[in-house]
Amino acid sequence: MENSTLSRRSFFKFAAAAVAVVPFIAKATKALAADACPTAPLAGKAMANPAEGMGKTLQYVTVASTTKSPKFKAGSKCGSCKFYNVAKAEGGYAPCTMMGMKYVTNCGWCTSFAAKV
Ligand code: SF4
Repeated sequence: MENSTLSRRSFFKFAAAAVAVVPFIAKATKALAADACPTAPLAGKAMANPAEGMGKTLQYVTVASTTKSPKFKAGSKCGSCKFYNVAKAEGGYAPCTMMGMKYVTNCGWCTSFAAKV
């Protein structure tokens, strides 16, 4: 009987701990997803285009290391830019304030890059 009580108590402790950990795992997973380079196009969202509009004006590139801009500093990318709206990130993309909230890739870059503080 005592073993059964202990066992039940242990189960409830484990269950409470598991429930407490779930939000942290979900947050960590979302953060990792936000950091990842996209592996597929994002359907149904307006995408920034390097060849037109603000994308062209700000010399946006989808792969930061391919820019020819002298302003580029190694290691900078959309995912570490303050204009990248990480709260709305999905599939390695997020809307960019400088691109009129069109989606940019986490691994992109443009001349308006400003590091998050
Ligand atoms: S402003 Fe920042 S997030 Fe937007 S395209 Fe330029 S580098 Fe990327």
